[in-house]
Amino acid sequence: MSDHLVRILTLDGHLRACAAVTTELVEQARKLQQTDPTASVALGRLASAAALLGSQLKGDQRLALMIEGNGPLQKLHAETDGDGHLRAMVKVPQTGLPPKEGRYDVAGAIGRAGFLHVSKDLGLKEPYRGMVQLVSSEIAEDLAYYLTTSEQVPSSVGLGVCLGPEAEVVAAGGFLLQAMPGCPEEVIATLEERLQALPPVTELLRSGLGPLAILQQLLAGLPFRVQGEIPLSFRCACSTQQILQLLRSLGREELQHLAEREEPTVVTCEFCRQSYPVTAETLQTLAAQGLEAT
Ligand code: ZN
Repeated sequence: MSDHLVRILTLDGHLRACAAVTTELVEQARKLQQTDPTASVALGRLASAAALLGSQLKGDQRLALMIEGNGPLQKLHAETDGDGHLRAMVKVPQTGLPPKEGRYDVAGAIGRAGFLHVSKDLGLKEPYRGMVQLVSSEIAEDLAYYLTTSEQVPSSVGLGVCLGPEAEVVAAGGFLLQAMPGCPEEVIATLEERLQALPPVTELLRSGLGPLAILQQLLAGLPFRVQGEIPLSFRCACSTQQILQLLRSLGREELQHLAEREEPTVVTCEFCRQSYPVTAETLQTLAAQGLEAT
């Protein structure tokens, strides 16, 4: 099954939900980032979370999730657009925390103390930015906490990543369930019971369920209408232009220093690991441009 996301709304209009399978794109991110198993699970959860939160975006609107914690991973970042293109990275891909009895210490890898940042570029003057402190560092709970407190939409989030014998990603994805304004308390209470009874999302994914089947399990008999289906894929939007912009921000002195070094300057994209060699002449030109600007 190719990576995709399904969005639904219940017929009574009280609940909206989406579920995604992200196995291929998370495996691609794992290979690119060379993550160890615990880092792969953390990265896969955040990438899936971005896919779910991005389900409301349109066209070139963008959403980014960033986690900064005091654990060995330091920083994780995932971005998506309205067309289901995703990219994700982790600052330190080796956690030094091997799985114990098949369990991955994601909270230990991220660190108990830290922040979840959400930014949305909806094509308005200023991007929207939100931030919460991490509550469990397991990502799903942190995201639900953010949505419920910061965006004030009661939300439940399930995220899962399963690894195979070679530490490859064999299943990844998740679901997001949200109460719409005016949703009666008893509907929320019934749902909470269902969520308690639902098998862990990793199990649902491992058994091969697709997004629609996951939503059917989640809503157990509540009639709903499918609002959209979005294919998901890993895509990095980095470019020479962006790399030059980044270099320009280093300032004249640093650029001149780089230009005078014997070793060639190569900038590597943190997301897709593409290398961009930059010639000394280009660095000199950038330095001169910086001088003109001041
Ligand atoms: Zn890139």
